[in-house]
Amino acid sequence: MIDYSTLTIHEAHKLLVSKQISSVELTKGYLQRIRQVEPKVRALVTVTEEMALQQAQQADARIAAGEVCPLTGIPVIIKDNMCTKGVRTTCSSKILENFVPPYDAMVVTKLNTAGAVIMGKANMDEFAMGSSTENSALFVTHNPWDLARVPGGSSGGSAVGVAAGEAVCALGSDTGGSIRQPASFCSVVGLKPTYGLVSRYGLVAFASSLDQIGPLTRDVTDCALVLNTIAGHDSRDSTSVPYPVPDYAACLSAGIKGMRIGVPKEYFVSGMQPEVAAALDTAIARLEKLGAVIDRDVSLPSTPHALSVYYIIAPSEASANLARYDGVKYGYSYKEGASMWEDMEKTRQFGFGPEVKRRIMLGTYALSAGYYDAYYLKAQKVRTLIRREFDAAFTKYDALVTPTSPTVPFKIGEKVADPIQMYLSDVCTLPINIAGVPAISIPAGFANNLPVGMQIIGKPFAEETLFKIAYAYEQATEWHKRKPEI
Ligand code: GLN
Repeated sequence: MIDYSTLTIHEAHKLLVSKQISSVELTKGYLQRIRQVEPKVRALVTVTEEMALQQAQQADARIAAGEVCPLTGIPVIIKDNMCTKGVRTTCSSKILENFVPPYDAMVVTKLNTAGAVIMGKANMDEFAMGSSTENSALFVTHNPWDLARVPGGSSGGSAVGVAAGEAVCALGSDTGGSIRQPASFCSVVGLKPTYGLVSRYGLVAFASSLDQIGPLTRDVTDCALVLNTIAGHDSRDSTSVPYPVPDYAACLSAGIKGMRIGVPKEYFVSGMQPEVAAALDTAIARLEKLGAVIDRDVSLPSTPHALSVYYIIAPSEASANLARYDGVKYGYSYKEGASMWEDMEKTRQFGFGPEVKRRIMLGTYALSAGYYDAYYLKAQKVRTLIRREFDAAFTKYDALVTPTSPTVPFKIGEKVADPIQMYLSDVCTLPINIAGVPAISIPAGFANNLPVGMQIIGKPFAEETLFKIAYAYEQATEWHKRKPEI
């Protein structure tokens, strides 16, 4: 009997190539599982059943012909801000509720080329703005560890899809923490790659200098396998870096003896739950036992400014990116107005939710002629300081370790009325996007039976180092094996 909620890519791959199971059987198993758990967790905006079964059939033909990659025949979920040809891509927004893209995002093309099976599109905070998936204009997603709590966000649907066993792995996007924070809240592995490593062609833009696509998986090996599949230069994304992609899965078991790991004190913020801090202390002690040299006295003094910098830069870029939703080219269109201007205004008034409008207003204000220097330019300068502090730290350390989130998953509804409290949920993850460096969140314990994640940060393109540390920790602990009961 296969346990669909614990199966990893590498395990499923073995079953597929040894013909113990076909991709069609595997896909049907996951469709069944989706029917079972979806009414409780509500992770998926669209289930692509027909397409999935077709792709599974093609995968079986490939396996029979011996043309396999690690992801051939593997069921995958995709966040609903990545374009899928012929399949609705909503961004969990009313304005794109019926948008069917005429092309695939590059990451989707890469998954298709590898022979993966796309099960559906995952719910998210509208346009990826949020930390709880409560900002979805469609419905709220529930955390499988406690259905009364949020799964984190904005890639909440993707994280829940993996944690609740609706697919083997998922793709998310991360502008300020949206892969790592829900990974932490749902006890799965989530990686935000280095800015430029994964093509964003076909990713609906939120804040272009921060957005990255990355994997959400059940273990570190799977995370490396997915990154192998989606990384690499793409001439259609001008920010994509022509970096030779190594085999991330080949380096995992190198060990961490002698590795220098720093623990920056600014990440243990006031307001952090003591249980989370305690779980992190235990996890760091474990890394030390595994041979790493830990320095607990590291300081990155500009860290406290990261939140303010992010909430100037991200809304500014969002206000520009979201200008395209005017009801003329595609998406929802109001047509009853007295003039073109009124149609455009009403399209945006009815099409966007409250958080998206808040960001557009913040961003438009910060970029306006009279305030540009005081806000946007200043934020960019502080951004440089933050990046330089990371550069300096990485001359001394191979990696930095912090909590992923200052708290365990909070209750649905608890923070919706207070945007600042919601924004604070990402204090530990935002600086990483500002600096453009990579970071992974891995399961690192439980506090009051709710998941705690550990974030490991590396220098640009040092994903291999992150994987080595994450893998060593995972092999020495059992956290990743615990599954929620739903
Ligand atoms: N929570 C942050 C925000 O609301 C980050 C979101 C993200 O990474 N997409 O902007």
